[in-house]
Amino acid sequence: MISEALKRIKPSATILMSQKARELKEKGHEVISLSAGEPDFAPPEHILKAAIEAIKKGANKYTAVDGIVPLKQAILEKFSRDNHIHYDLSEVMVSTGGKQVLYNAFVATLNPEDEVIIPAPYWVSYPQMVNLVGGRSVFINTTAESGFKITPKELEKAITQKTKWLILNSPSNPTGAVYSKEELQAISKVLLKYTHVHIMTDDIYEHIVFDDSPFATIAGIEPSLKDRVLTVNGVSKAYAMTGWRVGYCGGNSELIKAMTKVQSQSTSNVTAVSQYATIAALQGDQEFLIDNVALFRKRRDLVVSMLNNIPGLHCGVPSGAFYIYADCQGVIGKKTPKGSVITSDEDFVMGLLESEAVGLVFGAAFGLSPYFRLSYAESEENLMLACQKIQTFCNSLS
Ligand code: PLP
Repeated sequence: MISEALKRIKPSATILMSQKARELKEKGHEVISLSAGEPDFAPPEHILKAAIEAIKKGANKYTAVDGIVPLKQAILEKFSRDNHIHYDLSEVMVSTGGKQVLYNAFVATLNPEDEVIIPAPYWVSYPQMVNLVGGRSVFINTTAESGFKITPKELEKAITQKTKWLILNSPSNPTGAVYSKEELQAISKVLLKYTHVHIMTDDIYEHIVFDDSPFATIAGIEPSLKDRVLTVNGVSKAYAMTGWRVGYCGGNSELIKAMTKVQSQSTSNVTAVSQYATIAALQGDQEFLIDNVALFRKRRDLVVSMLNNIPGLHCGVPSGAFYIYADCQGVIGKKTPKGSVITSDEDFVMGLLESEAVGLVFGAAFGLSPYFRLSYAESEENLMLACQKIQTFCNSLS
């Protein structure tokens, strides 16, 4: 019954861990789930108002597959204003989340055995999507010492005749690593040499950066690469609109046309109401982003200091997004009070969920062990409680 293609892929580990936490909650346990990647607050009022207005005005019909023109116009303006990339209407489209943008792009471009270079650790869905459409993931393993970032040399070594895409995700899920403008310029130099390589840059955490160096994206800093770059973004994270399902992208018109064709035979347009709300998100006041970043920074600092006080765990200070990717090498080989040995980051995360009802995601799902990912898009109170519980669990190990 089930296709060979589907048998090749795994379900999303982040969704799986969130589901496990939900099941425990339903059984009456007080669970703190730090496994999902979504802000714990609502979108700003003006976005909600725009959606209600759209409903009242009758936004009930199908729209153009690639998005309504006023939204595409708002996207052009956003790319130009924030990223210095100048697209026209034929070079942007709207999809059901950044997730569908990426999936459309792979379906539209990958032939069997085409290679996609993915820096590891990576967002869980990249290799699974590549696998599903018959492509091949080529990983560049990064380390905490390199700030979880690839170097131009490592990139050059990974490129072959079959390379179709390089994926860049900055700020990164799961590590929070952010590439500086200079680092991207150095990577661009390699990419300029290999004209058959395209770049998918996943900028979904663009607005959540903590350092003074501003966010940079490759088509903005190296305009001569623009036609080979698909710039992916969305409103899920910065605007707290995960459930509204709106992602968008800019790329060359031939690629956008092909991706629109894919979408026309799968989901058609993004929900009309969500499209109107997204116009308000992109064109409205952006000041609240500053407050949100300050809030995330405070939470980041709290969790980093608490985790680094727990014997067996260690983490650096991430520069963006709302995740901490913590090293748990120090607990591997230890025994739980029930007598089972922790042999992997998955054992650690599962043991923690069972003993202390705290949900994290194990590093193996992101391609680098032994680590775990903690999402600090949660209240300070819950973060503090969760860190105390992680400490209790680690102290119970022998
Ligand atoms: N890219 C990255 C790196 C993510 O972390 C996520 C969501 O977790 C997405 C893309 C997709 O987000 P959405 O489909 O909600 O726009």
